[in-house]
Amino acid sequence: AMNYRHAFHAGNHADVLKHVVLLALCDALTRKPSPCFALDTHAGRGLYRLDGEAAQTTGEARDGISRLLAESPRQPLLRRYLAAVQACRARHGDSAYPGSPWLLGYALRAQDRIAVCELHPEEAHVLRSQLAGDPRLTVHERDGYQALKALLPPRHGATRFGRGLVLIDPPYEAQLAEFDIALAALHDGLIRWPQGMFALWYPIKQGRTLQPFRRAAARLPAKSALLLELLVRPDDSPLRMNGSGMLLLNPPWQFDSAMGSALEALRDALGEAGASTRVDWLRAPP
Ligand code: SAM
Repeated sequence: AMNYRHAFHAGNHADVLKHVVLLALCDALTRKPSPCFALDTHAGRGLYRLDGEAAQTTGEARDGISRLLAESPRQPLLRRYLAAVQACRARHGDSAYPGSPWLLGYALRAQDRIAVCELHPEEAHVLRSQLAGDPRLTVHERDGYQALKALLPPRHGATRFGRGLVLIDPPYEAQLAEFDIALAALHDGLIRWPQGMFALWYPIKQGRTLQPFRRAAARLPAKSALLLELLVRPDDSPLRMNGSGMLLLNPPWQFDSAMGSALEALRDALGEAGASTRVDWLRAPP
């Protein structure tokens, strides 16, 4: 069933974490002039409106992007993210919120290429119209896991990309089964494109139920594997999304210390009593 619509959740604490990390990964990639490639397997609509009916129904952005803007944190990675959101609003209006395809277009350069996949026909249609006219970007209306096999290793004409990133941001409608599907996709992707950086977002209800996932992630064929987690409240209720995490394979140099300070600043800005962060090398870089 494809019932998930990201418009209900755009700009919540999970989106904030995901998009802070995504921009930091892009910035690490663009420090060198050679072209890079980005694949967004579960792209969504590309652009959201926080004053729209879907966003207003849940009000999730109030405890996410809206609160962070009000806190105006000084941590550099958070400032970078807020500047991106402000740039999006300058272009699309005060209640706009950027999705991952928009952020990739914003952070990457003329020489870079971006492929985004969205399986839901209506979402894909909106995504196409939102991003039309960007010659760097291709929208694929297809299954993102299948696309990962078809599109890696990335090529563009004679260009082969040595560097780049893959973002996997599924809806987890299949609950825990989605973790296994995503791990299999990461395994495939790493074999096809060992130089690539890979990022998987995941929701956290109760962190301890994710131990099998963390153990399996540690066995992926990557040079290094890092977990970043932000719990905005204690993870004692199985009914709510109490936090979320990013599994990063082959992350940039010293990403753990840069992100550690960003996570603490996010916890201070968005967390309730008992909020916490976690930065764990499942496999330390060689
Ligand atoms: N990455 C987006 C962002 O950060 O702005 C949000 C993506 S949302 C969490 C997940 C999206 O994946 C939904 O729009 C859903 O329609 C889409 N989707 C679900 N299954 C998919 C699949 N197998 N392949 C591609 N897209 C899929």
